[in-house]
Amino acid sequence: MQHIYYLDNNATTRPLDAVIDAMTTVSRNEYANPSSLHLFGQRVRHRVETAREQVASLIGASPREIVFTSGGTESINLAIRGVLSANRDKRHIVTSAVEHSAVRSLSGRLTDEGFSVDAVGVDGSGRLDVAELAQRLRPDTALASVMHANNETGVLFPIDEIAAICAERGVPLHVDAVQSAGKLPLDVRSCPITLMSLSAHKFHGPKGVGALFVRRRTRLDAQIVGGGQERELRAGTEHVAGIVGMGTAAEAAKRDMAAHAVEVGALRDRLERQLVSSIGTAVVMGRGADRVYNTANVAFAGLEAEAILILLSEAGICASSGSACSSGSLEPSHVIAAMGVDPRIGHGAIRFSLSHFNTADEVVEVARVMPNIVSRLENIGAAHS
Ligand code: PLP
Repeated sequence: MQHIYYLDNNATTRPLDAVIDAMTTVSRNEYANPSSLHLFGQRVRHRVETAREQVASLIGASPREIVFTSGGTESINLAIRGVLSANRDKRHIVTSAVEHSAVRSLSGRLTDEGFSVDAVGVDGSGRLDVAELAQRLRPDTALASVMHANNETGVLFPIDEIAAICAERGVPLHVDAVQSAGKLPLDVRSCPITLMSLSAHKFHGPKGVGALFVRRRTRLDAQIVGGGQERELRAGTEHVAGIVGMGTAAEAAKRDMAAHAVEVGALRDRLERQLVSSIGTAVVMGRGADRVYNTANVAFAGLEAEAILILLSEAGICASSGSACSSGSLEPSHVIAAMGVDPRIGHGAIRFSLSHFNTADEVVEVARVMPNIVSRLENIGAAHS
């Protein structure tokens, strides 16, 4: 079987063996409903509460501030809609131009529903204009919502600074930490974030489970109503195996984070260096900004990302592009467009996202294959022009 070079870890990550083992054990042996009063149910409740402690510990929260959800998207929807619904006199939110579609699509819906949404811009390196964000906050701003690490470029927003501004102005801040949780230290004790969204499958946990950190005394209305689960903030029988898997992944991430930052960061830097030195048209997106250590977004000027991805895939290499194919014309991603990148460059942007499962040999192979792919496509382009 062809070796799979998996460099698409911002899409999803490989679950740890310990995660799969914990989920299997729970699914097989501990299938009671955690709300049941019998001892069997209480044993399962204990599993859920242990996972809550593990997830809370990853971000310095109290376990009572963790609400389990079905993933990042649901956490984001609960945070934003939940705050708006609990603060009906305020109809304005502030966000950024480079958010994940979970926030972007919801912002579009909210605009249709009559809310006013301001999306703050970024500079050519993808850095948020923090001064603009401060200016946009108004007396009727219900919430600011920004991401920590960008899923396409890895560019980090200065969450401490943004949280301090929002706190001073009395505006709750929701942070989409889906791409940073488990990779970077986050501490809600020292940073006045109000809400934070996490997703297990981005840090070697299972898909379909996430969490929302809700700081004590935050006014938030449930969006899924029914039974009283999750302190009445998210009804429905808990996805116990997923929650236990997320707890296991959170504990491992906390333990190994510092080592992974060094190892994976070195691989990412090596990949970028080799691509830039061997391919004259390669440009690193977000260069110059603080970035999460696992993400390399490299644009190959004059080429289409989709064509590159197909040839990479033939070589067993999984990467991705942020661009969407709409009505036959390939649009550069909204992130790259917001950075003001020349479309001739932005169309060829490829995201390589690494994890600790990647090896130096894999990086060497990707760096070896890429120049051939680029020259093949350049030759096809030259023949057609
Ligand atoms: N936010 C960011 C920054 C993401 O990268 C993603 C997933 O790609 C999400 C939110 C959505 O998370 P989930 O897949 O768990 O719904």
